Amino acid sequence: MKNNFNELAVCKKMEEVTSQEKASIHCRCGAVQILFTSKSPRAAVECCDKQSYNNLKFLAQMGDYELPEKFPVLVYFFDNKLVVVKGIENLSFSKLIVESNLVNMYSSCCHTFLMSRNPAFAHSTVSVHGDRSYLSNVVHQKPTLRFFPDQLSEDDRTQLVHRIPGVWKDTKDRFRGDCDGWEEVYREFLENVAAPIAENQEGLPIEEILQENSEPIFVLGWQSARFARKTVSKYECILSG
Ligand SMILES: [Zn+2]
Repeated sequence: MKNNFNELAVCKKMEEVTSQEKASIHCRCGAVQILFTSKSPRAAVECCDKQSYNNLKFLAQMGDYELPEKFPVLVYFFDNKLVVVKGIENLSFSKLIVESNLVNMYSSCCHTFLMSRNPAFAHSTVSVHGDRSYLSNVVHQKPTLRFFPDQLSEDDRTQLVHRIPGVWKDTKDRFRGDCDGWEEVYREFLENVAAPIAENQEGLPIEEILQENSEPIFVLGWQSARFARKTVSKYECILSG
């Protein structure tokens, strides 16, 4: 009995160490919990993309809860190595439109947005929303960039508190900035999110979790007037990224 007790104590201690050293995300009901590799995000930005925000609103509507996020949304980038501590059976995936390379992971139990995989920036990271109610043990950061500020309305602009460089895509899909020195900040951001993941990190990349998942990807069908509720083959989107 004594040995068992000691082992249990050691396990307990290891759990505490792990939970102290790593940030985690959980869904609203607590059925899903996923550990990241560190407490500090690699980068923090503000996202003004209305489509991404509407994706959150749609999940809130499906789950019948108030959206706690503010607009623009604070986004953190963590290593694409994830340990699903619990609730792997509650993980679902969605896209806004079939053609999108952005794949979102959300919880089917309570429709909480969990994270995105966006190959436009890097394969080394996943992005999560910096909402304090779903993250634990994170060293919170201030954003260094604001993406797509051209999508902000005048009302949204007046509510912005940080003065940070804004970056958006022009009609030819080239990135543009709204102040001197934005290129340097953007370059640093890209370097941070694209750097390889340190070896020997525990966990699986989001692509493997997606491949193991038995459900097809749920497509919100954003471009139609109403949500289309279609699904799409997961392989299609993995290959396109
Ligand atoms: Zn849940």
